Amino acid sequence: ARPTTIPRAEELAALARTAAQRCGVDLAAIAGDVRTPSPVNGEDLHPVTWVDAKSVDLAVERAQEAFLAWRTVPAPVRGALVKRFGELLTTHKSDVATLISLEVGKITSEALGEVQEMIDICDFAVGLSRQLYGRTMTSERYNHRLMETWHPLGVVGVISAFNFPAAVWAWNTAIALVCGDSVVWKPSEITPLTAGACAALLDRAMTELDTPAYLSQVLIGGADAGQALVGHPGVALLSATGSTRMGRAVGPRVADRFGRVLLELGGNNAAIVAPTADLDLTTRGIVFSAVGTAGQRCTTMRRVIAHTSVVDQLVERISEAYRRLPIGVPLEAGTLVGPLISGTAYRNMRDALEAAAQQGGTVLVGGGRRLEDQAPNAYYAEPAIVRVDRQTAVVRQETFAPILYVMPYESLDEAIAMNNAVPQGLSSSIFTNDQREAERFMSADGSDCGIVNINIGTSGAEIGGAFGGEKETGGGRESGSDAWKNYMRRATNTVNYSGELSLAQGVDFTI
Ligand code: NAD
Repeated sequence: ARPTTIPRAEELAALARTAAQRCGVDLAAIAGDVRTPSPVNGEDLHPVTWVDAKSVDLAVERAQEAFLAWRTVPAPVRGALVKRFGELLTTHKSDVATLISLEVGKITSEALGEVQEMIDICDFAVGLSRQLYGRTMTSERYNHRLMETWHPLGVVGVISAFNFPAAVWAWNTAIALVCGDSVVWKPSEITPLTAGACAALLDRAMTELDTPAYLSQVLIGGADAGQALVGHPGVALLSATGSTRMGRAVGPRVADRFGRVLLELGGNNAAIVAPTADLDLTTRGIVFSAVGTAGQRCTTMRRVIAHTSVVDQLVERISEAYRRLPIGVPLEAGTLVGPLISGTAYRNMRDALEAAAQQGGTVLVGGGRRLEDQAPNAYYAEPAIVRVDRQTAVVRQETFAPILYVMPYESLDEAIAMNNAVPQGLSSSIFTNDQREAERFMSADGSDCGIVNINIGTSGAEIGGAFGGEKETGGGRESGSDAWKNYMRRATNTVNYSGELSLAQGVDFTI
């Protein structure tokens, strides 16, 4: 283990307070007695107050008023707000990243990457504000025009998970704002300061551009605040990111009131490593995807399905890389693996490793805990590799920790079937230099996931594509491509300029 020193509690709390204040957070206003332990040292950063479910009603009411004013503002003018927000994020990139590192335990480079992703989606949304295109279709009738128009939808409720405490909200909010919607955000209860900082920066942009009040609001609270948002009939679109368990509770409730829902839930992502794979590139791709964010990304690689001709060599290479992983304080230069979010997360990891062993697997490396003596309430886990010969129950579930199951395959058909034989359908990869295999993996009878990559790991998506997955991942798509259509309502218009009334399908209704 490399030497690493856990900073003192006051030091980290001061760092958090300074970063939050620089973004414009009123620390006194949010102070309370709900604990905010940092995964870095297990000590509180700045205990906060939580809103109750009643505040949700008021927030949605205010958001509806804001929406009524905002929806008639021209979309490119709405884009100017998002442009300014992106500029403020650029100025405060390291402040927001510091808060992400402190609240989530992300290493500095990944925390900065998360803020960059927010800046990128702002750029994308600004461009989009001039491209909310509808189609014109050919009408079957003489002198008629058939077309569609996209209109603002309403209040967008955003519920986000701890592991992307800022970017997920930004994906939703930047797009929702240019689409003419207002936003009410219920961030993860674990990340109130990051949420406060992001909201304060957007507030500043809103004040500068004199937009309607309450266009974007944040509600720091627990699952009950989330539940109130889910059930509120005033929320036109509910975008929820988190566990499949949460999605199972949320989806039917929104459907019951005929609201629109966008679910971004758990993943259990695999890479197939084919005989022709470049093993250097593959090893680097696997290690980043499997241990980045300490295995706590929805797109984290959790399974490797390697051809029998390469599996032993591959396991040797990744095990060697795992033994050298710099695990430690995420703010320290050189650290690649920070802490797990909590003791519960570490216990879940241990339970899964135990179950894997009982189900016939062999733990090759990792699973232990580091820095326990210095920080008994922080959980620095050694990422683990487990060799299995088939996908047992524990392999098929998402354990939100750095455990990589490696298993062999003989034929590509078998490997694709294994890739697809889990309840989740978020991300997938194949490492191959055989074009036919790559094409097959991307084809209709290939991977069944929302993200299908070739010669790159399962994590680290760019914002330009639509992000999301199938099956228990929830089916939602956010971020780039045409995901904006989720945030607008479509009107189909038929215009008759013929001077006569002709009916479609040749219907004769002469009176
Ligand atoms: P979580 O499900 O515990 O919590 C997510 C959010 O949902 C929190 O804000 C929480 O307060 C809220 N919530 C919980 N129960 C609720 C309910 N019944 N009604 C309304 N709101 C409720 O998830 P987590 O531990 O914060 O995050 C980890 C999980 O999120 C993993 O499963 C991961 O794969 C998933 N995730 C998915 C994506 C994606 O885009 N697909 C992205 C990030 C994380």
